[in-house]
Amino acid sequence: MCKNVIDGRYHTICQHFTPMSTRQQDCRNNACLFSSTHAPGCKHKGPCIRMMEPPQRNPIRISDTRCEGCVMRGPEGVLGRSP
Ligand SMILES: [Zn+2]
Ligand SMILES: [Zn+2]
Ligand SMILES: [Zn+2]
Repeated sequence: MCKNVIDGRYHTICQHFTPMSTRQQDCRNNACLFSSTHAPGCKHKGPCIRMMEPPQRNPIRISDTRCEGCVMRGPEGVLGRSP
């Protein structure tokens, strides 16, 4: 199954993930509707795969600061997040 990979920045202090860009990872399975190998005429046998895997976070940057959201919440930040 194909899946979306979310590139972003991981903030180690508040453990938040800030998405920067999303790309699709192709599973190269020609039975998968989302793959570029899937023929428009759908010549393969059996049902198509119509599901994508849950998106995967891919931290391409590691930041030892708080994220923007936490910075806006106050200079000290609220590390004990309210549910
Ligand atoms: Zn796929
Ligand atoms: Zn198909
Ligand atoms: Zn944060």
